Amino acid sequence: MTQRPYNFSAGPAAMPEAVLAQAAAEMLDWHGCGMGVMEMSHRGKEFISIYEQAEADLRELLAVPPEFKILFMQGGGLAENAIVPLNLSRGGTVDFVVSGSWSQKSAKEAQRYATANIAASGQASGFTALPAPASWQLSAGAQYLHLCSNETIHGIEFHELPDLKALGCDAPLVIDFSSHVLSRPVDWSRVGLAFGGAQKNVGPAGVTLVIVREDLLGHALPACPSAFDYQTVADNQSMFNTPPTYAIYMAGLTFQWLKQQGGVAAMERCNIAKAELLYGYLDRSAFYVNKVDPAARSRMNVPFFLRDESRNQAFLDGAKARGLLQLKGHKSVGGMRASIYNAMPIEGVQALVDYLKDFEKEQA
Ligand SMILES: *Cc1c(COP(=O)(O)O)cnc(C)c1O
Repeated sequence: MTQRPYNFSAGPAAMPEAVLAQAAAEMLDWHGCGMGVMEMSHRGKEFISIYEQAEADLRELLAVPPEFKILFMQGGGLAENAIVPLNLSRGGTVDFVVSGSWSQKSAKEAQRYATANIAASGQASGFTALPAPASWQLSAGAQYLHLCSNETIHGIEFHELPDLKALGCDAPLVIDFSSHVLSRPVDWSRVGLAFGGAQKNVGPAGVTLVIVREDLLGHALPACPSAFDYQTVADNQSMFNTPPTYAIYMAGLTFQWLKQQGGVAAMERCNIAKAELLYGYLDRSAFYVNKVDPAARSRMNVPFFLRDESRNQAFLDGAKARGLLQLKGHKSVGGMRASIYNAMPIEGVQALVDYLKDFEKEQA
């Protein structure tokens, strides 16, 4: 087979080629049972074994402590912006750290179910820096504090989760880790709930991971749909309604692939090397620029600009001709964005850096 292009899409994003190949090989007949995974009952022993393996592998990969439930839900990250306050807010006050588009959306949606307090915002910096935890205006008695631990659009990442207790806050921390889940370990001692859509770093769109501390379950507002009540979902092993079976299967294959790569610690080392390679080149170049505070730069999503933006289309056309796909930036930010999730090998980042160099030379 000829080499596939390198796909820098922010999401739905590239998946490991080995995972796609395995799924293709098993498409018509999963493990000799005569059925494809899409065709199986979610209550049959075949799918239950797929589900249980996926859950166990995710728990192992992320070192999720036993007091946390792992739920496989539907609705994506945006639905969780409503589902979290429906389950955790008790109609009270909720604090938000707004560090980019995704947390901004979360705060807006939560307002329908709770009082959303903006404890801090990076808007004044154009979302190029994270507001320092010591400056956050936390409300007394907030039900939880929400932040987006990796802002996919602005390319900003929390490299350390805040210690809310040290800030004098007893509320649980809720994180949206959609776009960097499994790229690095999670400090569960600081987290009450983490959620993430799968289509960035886990698998196909359609399944949403929710990892929630047990003591936070059981307080849903009466208006919360049963299918979105964490307690109900947990009590039914994510099968209160039909779960997105194929997406769970694909996520499970990705978990197995991650274990073969050496797990999350190995992925983190590789992600650090990839990010250093790309940011290092951008910072040394006078032709390109990344505007994010180096202390908060995302390892997963790297927005950058050509200093001369009239060359944007030529840049994208040349990239495509070299087999470097989907580098156009998000429309709200402009410029370019390279998303370099777990499935992007360092060779792909090197190919991008080689192209950045060649394009710069060609345009001089
Ligand atoms: C992509 C993304 C979402 C939205 O996910 P949907 O599945 O489209 O609802 C939410 N949060 C973050 C950080 C994302 O990157």
